[in-house]
Amino acid sequence: MSYRPLVTNSRLAERNDATQLFQVVVKLKDGGECRLFYGPEGTKINRLQTTPCSVCRRDYYCNCMDKFVDMISSQVDLEELKAAQPAAK
Ligand SMILES: [Zn+2]
Repeated sequence: MSYRPLVTNSRLAERNDATQLFQVVVKLKDGGECRLFYGPEGTKINRLQTTPCSVCRRDYYCNCMDKFVDMISSQVDLEELKAAQPAAK
């Protein structure tokens, strides 16, 4: 598998400091969009179904991005995104 996702944009979509749950929407160079779920139990990923999957080309639900969650999350600086957006009161 040679797919190498490249994050071109990321933004904090949901933030809950009390539960330590955060969601970040990332845009990939190939046009795909994913949502990263950060929580105490680790990081999960869902592909947003705005474009077909870059790996399997399906435009409905698939698990392909699960294999790339580390590669994608390593390109996202959650602490920086949190610092850029003040906590909701
Ligand atoms: Zn897929």
